[in-house]
Amino acid sequence: MAKETENNDDGKKKLGLSRPGKLTLNKTVETGTVRQSFSHGRSKAVTVEVRKKRTFERNTGGNLTEVKPGQEGFFEGEEVATAVANEERRLTDQEREARLRALKQAQQLEEEARARGEEEAARAAARRAEEEKKKLAEEEHRQKRSEDDETRRAEEEENRRKEEETARKQAALDRAKKEAEAVKAAVAARTRPATPEEAAAEEDEKERRAKADVKRPVPSRKGEPRRRQNKLTVTAALDDQEGERARSDAAVRRARERERRRMQQAMASGDGRKQVRDVVVPEAITVQELANRMAERGVEVVKTLMKLGVMATINQTIDADTAELVVTEFGHRVKRVADSDVEIGLVTNDDDDALKTTRPPVVTVMGHVDHGKTSLLDALRETDVAGREAGGITQHIGAYQVHLSGGQRITFIDTPGHAAFTAMRARGARATDIVVLVVAADDGVMPQTIEAIKHAKAANVPIIVAINKIDKPDAHPERVRSELLQHEIVLEDFGGDVMAVEVSALARTGLDKLEETILLQSEVLELKANPDRDAQGVVIEAKMERGRGSVATVLIQRGTLRVGDVFVAGNEWGRVRAMVNERGGQVTEAGPSDPVEVLGLQGTPMAGDDLIVVADEARAREITSYRQEKARTARTNLARPGTLDAFFASAKAGEAKELPVVIKADVQGSAEAIVGALENMGNDEVSVRVLHVGVGGINESDVTLAQASNALVIGFNVRANPQAREFARTNAIDMRYYSIIYDVADDIKKALSGMLDPTIKETLLGYAEIREVFNITKVGKVAGCFITEGMVRRGAKVRLLRDDVVIHEGSLSTLKRHKDDVQEVKEGYECGMSFQNYNDIQKGDFIECFSVEEIATEL
Ligand code: GDP
Repeated sequence: MAKETENNDDGKKKLGLSRPGKLTLNKTVETGTVRQSFSHGRSKAVTVEVRKKRTFERNTGGNLTEVKPGQEGFFEGEEVATAVANEERRLTDQEREARLRALKQAQQLEEEARARGEEEAARAAARRAEEEKKKLAEEEHRQKRSEDDETRRAEEEENRRKEEETARKQAALDRAKKEAEAVKAAVAARTRPATPEEAAAEEDEKERRAKADVKRPVPSRKGEPRRRQNKLTVTAALDDQEGERARSDAAVRRARERERRRMQQAMASGDGRKQVRDVVVPEAITVQELANRMAERGVEVVKTLMKLGVMATINQTIDADTAELVVTEFGHRVKRVADSDVEIGLVTNDDDDALKTTRPPVVTVMGHVDHGKTSLLDALRETDVAGREAGGITQHIGAYQVHLSGGQRITFIDTPGHAAFTAMRARGARATDIVVLVVAADDGVMPQTIEAIKHAKAANVPIIVAINKIDKPDAHPERVRSELLQHEIVLEDFGGDVMAVEVSALARTGLDKLEETILLQSEVLELKANPDRDAQGVVIEAKMERGRGSVATVLIQRGTLRVGDVFVAGNEWGRVRAMVNERGGQVTEAGPSDPVEVLGLQGTPMAGDDLIVVADEARAREITSYRQEKARTARTNLARPGTLDAFFASAKAGEAKELPVVIKADVQGSAEAIVGALENMGNDEVSVRVLHVGVGGINESDVTLAQASNALVIGFNVRANPQAREFARTNAIDMRYYSIIYDVADDIKKALSGMLDPTIKETLLGYAEIREVFNITKVGKVAGCFITEGMVRRGAKVRLLRDDVVIHEGSLSTLKRHKDDVQEVKEGYECGMSFQNYNDIQKGDFIECFSVEEIATEL
């Protein structure tokens, strides 16, 4: 509706003062009053306004002139098209713009209306659902409380009303939509845009209609934006048709960024287009080499290592486990190739039984000190028929072989005692087939005898007992036999399988019998080996000799060793230059169970090391370089526990009971004082065993001794020489320096208390007096008792006292009160008790009841 103030040039109605002092506008509205009559003769005057419609347009002179009804562009609703058509000829650019603007606004309005409509529909639906729910709930509630029908009807009425309203709103919405479409169609139909006035009129009209018809279903909340056609509503978002919304630049950028990051991750984690490699990982590898093998950048590998908590530079070496983690992190496959693989196929023991022939037994002599081990070994050596014939000079090479008159041979390990035996075993060598346990007939079973038994049993090596010094007048071989029984050595005389021979090393008696027994035992063991193959053996002794270089006494276990053979021995390798037997004679080959001194080693191996003949020098070098590297890393990387700590641990595990020590001091007096202090230490269970005492610095022989026996080296005011220090370091020998005797004693004491078995501490619970003894069939004797002191508890230990002397110690089998089993009976009560496996009870005896607990022993 055009409203124009008449302030134009030729305006007839001018703003003026119609009455003095009062400013008015000329009226465009004519008013009048009519009389309205009501029932019962009442009437009321009602004012009626008549609004004049006036339209203006520019005339040819550019001035606005009023258009009279009938000829003016009066449009409303569907008449718009006609009106627009009439105005077609008066089109200017300005008007075109206005029209376009109007069209845009119309579209906006339409969308707004639609959005609002949909919103409303959704809200209505939600409300309906809510109401339905409410209704249901209320229905239930009502049913429960049996409220009158009136309320329900009112409720139903209300619901119906609400539904009707919703329907009405929906209808209004539909109408609005239709109208908006019509407007759009009309606008589209225009061939010329409307004049600014028309555009303005059109806009006003649309707004009016939108306001009038498209009633806001819910009163518009304060601050809620009216125009939300470009805003995303929940409905719009959920509506698939609305999904065509163009993505914003930011969203596109974000998506691109996401994709880029995903690609990066894919690259880093190794999936995607990345090539997955099989990476060979040895036991140690530099970061650079690992990066090369993975075809990754070194920095990336360093970064990954950092992530794993490993700070390593590109040139540093990492272990296989860490490398494996890194490789997995990069998404490659790990192929672990251990350097130790070089050892594969080195030791072979798959000889065909048909190729094996009987070999001589290898015997180790063990026993308590001074029971005659050395004497026996010497005596046995002299039984060698071949030696006598050859007349060679006896050499001590660590082992020797005796040729018996029957043609058989026996190999004896020339290092008596279980220390060497155990040291060899610790290195994985099983050199001994049979243990000859020497027990002096005049002395019987002694601590080291027991130890030897334990070691032999642990190694699963059969024992032959040599009861020595049988020539002595105070010899009691029978006593030895029965003593051995207590240590699980059941001799044949007692129905066991252990053979015993009475010998005299001094008088050279019984030696033949001993040898026969050894052969018998070896027959039982069926000792066989294949002599026709590359030799394998064990190093029994090795030393560096001036003029001869490194020499090792090797016991051949299978195959035959020949001069010229290339072999590895422990961490060393060599080519057999010469071989010497125990009589000093050169030999060209050595077969199974033969001990030979081998010359031609590149370095000195250790006792217990294996000796394996290999194909060539390259292979030997390959193996030894790996082994040496391994030993080096073991030395530098692994903090191996010292003897005391190791001892502590093994003592706790119940293995060690004796702490061997090597003592070196500055003066004889100090050495003696320390020995005295340490030997007085300990008890029946644990003790210190002084292997060697000396005055002067700690030398190689001291540490070698310590190593063989797993001993602790104590230096009192003395130090080790460089060689000894190096040896101790490489062999993890615990070497401690002291300057106060008390400190020595204190340290050892600590170690010993760690290995002490827990002592039993008992607590007295109470006493009961036996007042009556009942003999009950099937149960035995039951004591009718009276608790005189404390209490008696089931499960506790008991002692039977007769005249204050303990005559039995054991456990209760029953504890009853009035035929009922009870847990405990207190002082002043009577009870029935019976002992487990003991029936000798008498009236007047006392029963002492006590509990036991274990506590760690303090010395
Ligand atoms: P080992 O410490 O076990 O090696 O014992 P030995 O061989 O050194 O001997 C210790 C002592 O016992 C030496 O004095 C020997 O002379 C002595 N002995 C060894 N065997 C016999 C034996 O058969 N009869 C007698 N009467 N003495 C012996």
